[in-house]
Amino acid sequence: MAQWQGDSDEGIDYMFKVVMVGDSGVGKSQLLNRFVRNEFQMKSKATIGVEFLTKTVVMDHKVVKAQIWDTAGQERYQAITTAYYRGATGALLAYDITNRQSFDHVEKWLDELRVHADNIIVMLVGNKSDLSSGRAVPMEEAKDFAKQKGLFFVETSALDSNNVESAFLGLLSQIYATVGKKHI
Ligand code: GDP
Repeated sequence: MAQWQGDSDEGIDYMFKVVMVGDSGVGKSQLLNRFVRNEFQMKSKATIGVEFLTKTVVMDHKVVKAQIWDTAGQERYQAITTAYYRGATGALLAYDITNRQSFDHVEKWLDELRVHADNIIVMLVGNKSDLSSGRAVPMEEAKDFAKQKGLFFVETSALDSNNVESAFLGLLSQIYATVGKKHI
């Protein structure tokens, strides 16, 4: 499990580390920003400026704290470090529904995840659903792919909030159902 620092974890029943992965520009930072702060930054690049954000949710009468890591652009310059993945029990793997290449790279991201965190639970997210007129990845194709690979799947929009909560909360509840019984 992850090492926890900083703020008090009193009253927390479970803590999970989740990592955001996917090509640069698919909307990872904006998704995280929308989920944790309910904000969308209109500037060209959302700079969260921190390694991770935390969000505490109540699930099944238990208090669950998620520490959600953002690549902060690492994927553009170098391989993502091993430390990024260490202790992660879940991943939100995002592509952009208007960018075919970002979907074609999903398999590469899956391989990378599985190298670092064998049994990691993955939510595949097709982001930018508000741009459906520019769609390059059919929803059915992504759904079939997810089924075949044992991933959970949802299409989201960080811009208009569509399904953002479902994506993160769905992932957290799957982690809770799978590994949450192990109290830290
Ligand atoms: P990251 O590199 O994966 O972290 O991507 P960012 O979060 O920085 O987003 C990349 C670009 O896509 C930015 O210009 C965002 O404003 C835009 N973007 C992110 N999410 C959405 C979305 O749901 N809809 C639309 N239309 N644009 C988005």
